[in-house]
Amino acid sequence: MDTNFGRSFGEWLRDQMRLVDHDSLAPYRARILLAMGAVAIALLAPFTVNHLIQERWGVALALFTIMLLTYVNVRAVAQRRSPPIPSAWLLLPFVAGITMSVVVQGVPGILWAYPVVVYAYFVLTRRIALFSSIAILGYVASLAAAMIDVPLALRLFATLLLTIIMINIVLNVIADLHRKLENQALTDPLTGAYNRRFMEKVLDALVARAERQPLVACILMIDIDHFKRVNDRFGHDHGDLVLKRVVDIVASRMRRSDRLFRWGGEEFLVLLEGADLEGATRVAEDIRQSVAAATILPEQAVTVSIGVSQYQARQDVDGWTRAADVALYEAKSGGRNRVVQAKMVEPVAQ
Ligand code: GH3
Ligand code: MG
Ligand code: MG
Repeated sequence: MDTNFGRSFGEWLRDQMRLVDHDSLAPYRARILLAMGAVAIALLAPFTVNHLIQERWGVALALFTIMLLTYVNVRAVAQRRSPPIPSAWLLLPFVAGITMSVVVQGVPGILWAYPVVVYAYFVLTRRIALFSSIAILGYVASLAAAMIDVPLALRLFATLLLTIIMINIVLNVIADLHRKLENQALTDPLTGAYNRRFMEKVLDALVARAERQPLVACILMIDIDHFKRVNDRFGHDHGDLVLKRVVDIVASRMRRSDRLFRWGGEEFLVLLEGADLEGATRVAEDIRQSVAAATILPEQAVTVSIGVSQYQARQDVDGWTRAADVALYEAKSGGRNRVVQAKMVEPVAQ
């Protein structure tokens, strides 16, 4: 987790809330349900038998019902079916069980609130778990205040709240790690730009969507001019630094919704969704000027050439990027350090 204390609390909180929407336990849900359910049944069985022996019929029946409902779900998961009872609904009999246990036995019944809260986080999405756990916290604390006494209710409230906070911290750490891992698979390690594999996925999805609804989007094909000379004169390591600096400059001129991909070598592709040819050309010109104005290397100008192409109906990804590449080639042969628009092809008559 990031421990950058320089960031504002607001930013930190927004980041944490974004992590809440990252359901990193989802792929493990079946395994969790199976393990938790089986252990819960095994643990509840002796208590149920004890209640029967003591002739506490109500609690025994409540526990038996909980075991039965849990078993129905565990059995389904074991048979690779989806659980017939939604996990959130199971919270109702669980809370009813806690209530009955507190009413009949007092303090010992309260202890069941802890696993029920953990259960919520393990089997529900984070948002639903957050709401349910806060509701359970309020409810069992009030129940303890009404049925037992206020000092215990206060301690129950504090310890359960602490438990909820700790679960959230741990799950946010997991979500953060998960997000970093996902990001590593999508980005180019040298420049931090998205990699080519991810680019193909994004463009394919975008063009597939364009078959159903009109798409306004442009790509910029950016190539560093005479980059071989940079390597030859300053060495490969300096070449790498130039790549990083150019990526930083390009990224600083983009909007949040734009995406930057490393096409390969010293070529980059920027995707601008929602931008038409004129808008994208303005962005490209801004990038070109910013790179040219930055003193990236001493005694050697670093410039870029850019081809801009707007998506045209019924074009495929190849056609779209090829159009940008042709425009880039024109920019190169026209003297470099310039932006060239791809020709718009007339729509094919139906
Ligand atoms: P042009 O203006 O026509 O684009 O000329 P250029 O020299 O930039 O083009 P060319 O394609 O001939 O050379 C690209 C060079 O980029 C060659 C290659 O060694 C270098 N290169 C590719 N990837 C990397 C990298 O990751 N790091 C470094 N330092 N150099 C790279
Ligand atoms: Mg080049
Ligand atoms: Mg090149």
